[in-house]
This record gives sequence, structure tokens and C-alpha cells, in this order.
Amino acid sequence: MKWTVLGCQSPYPGPGGGTPGYLLEVSGQRILVDCGSGVLSKLGCYFQPHQLDAVWLSHLHFDHIADFFVLQYAVKTEVRLGRRKAPLTVYAPAEPADWAEKLNKYPYVLHQSIHEGQTYPFHGCEITAHRTEHAIPCYALKIQGQEKVILYGADAGPSTPWNSMCIQPDLFVCEGTFLHQDLPLQPVGHHSVLQAAMAAQRIKAHRLLLTHLYPGYSHQSLWNEASSAYSGQLSIASPGWSISL
Ligand SMILES: [Zn+2]
Repeated sequence: MKWTVLGCQSPYPGPGGGTPGYLLEVSGQRILVDCGSGVLSKLGCYFQPHQLDAVWLSHLHFDHIADFFVLQYAVKTEVRLGRRKAPLTVYAPAEPADWAEKLNKYPYVLHQSIHEGQTYPFHGCEITAHRTEHAIPCYALKIQGQEKVILYGADAGPSTPWNSMCIQPDLFVCEGTFLHQDLPLQPVGHHSVLQAAMAAQRIKAHRLLLTHLYPGYSHQSLWNEASSAYSGQLSIASPGWSISL
């Protein structure tokens, strides 16, 4: 399995960056996980959008779906030109309903609703969806390959039950939206960097990829806070970062 970062910032992209989007390649399939602002242009550095096998949207907040609507135009064009035959399946929550409806607008895109605890088989892996603590229905993805496991945490607050999803994932992609000193007083369905590091330590993740990063933070400040609570292999996400497992 190969995991590549296309976008990793939030709530908006910094110069040349993008909000969340990741490329999962497994057994020859190309699966886009989240499709934020700026992700489509990065995707084109690897292959053409019509060559995607599936899209997963963890939840329907705009920083995770903005480019999906433009991706639909790409699919439409390639279908018209005869370069793509099959519709593109997008796995996404059914709520909020008014936004889920927009995923189903065209015949060349098929929306498949994702549900808590449900497992979806693909060639070479299976993906299980688990609800996180977030303002709207949001699903972490446990991606079980033949030998390795990736846990993509999507957007998630610190009460998310990571332990019940997965222990010792080979890669834990976890959001760290705030430096801990900037954490809002009220729970907002996001981790601080420190909380992300503590969660990774708790589930004994072999590697933590810290993501969903505010563009105004320096990598050094993120690194310092995360490494204070996590003793495994730490990486700070950036576009183009990639790992083969
Ligand atoms: Zn969100």
C-alpha cells in the first residue's frame, strides 16, 4: 500500500498548498481519500482524474470536499471524450443531507453512503469506517492491507475512541489542528497537536503522520509539541510526502 499526501492544511490552504486530500494506491487501484481545496491540481502530478478508481470523503465539511465538485466536471469531460466508461463511486456520509444530495447530481458519479462499523472490500485491502468526535458525521478509515494497516483519522476530537478502532497501526494519519496553547476552551471536534501525539502513543502507532495543519504554524513548532508526547516515528505532513507499506 502506498499513501501520498496531496493536501494537508486546514481550514484553508497556504501558498501552493491544499486542504486535506490523500492518494491511496493498493493492488493497482487509485483511491482518493478526501478532496479538499487544491487537491485536484496536485493529483494531476501523479495521474489524470479520470483514472481514479474510487473517492472517499470522510465528512462533508468544505475543506475536505471543495475540489470534489470540480472533480465531477473532470469525470464528466472524460466520459464525454470516451476516456472513461464507468461512473466514479464516491463513498461518503449521507449527512448533512443537503450536501450529500450534491454528490449524487450526475449519472457519472455514484454516491455510496458510509456507515459506522461497516467494512468495504477492495482489491488488496478492506476499509472499515468508524465515527469520530466531530461537529457533523465524520468517519475515520481503518485500511487493512494484506500485511499492514493504515488508520486515517479524518477530523476528530480527543474523545474519539481510537483504541476500539485499531491498536498498533503501521501508519496513523492524525489531525493536529491547533498547537495546544491555541486550543479553544469549548470542544470543537479537533485535536491539538499534543492530543494527537498522545493518541498515537496510546494506540502504539508505529508511525504518526501529523496532518490537518494550520498554515500559519511552523513545522518546528509542530514537531516540538508532537515529539514531546510521542516516541514512535514522527512525520509532519507536506504535499508529496509518501510512504510505501
Ligand atoms: Zn471537519
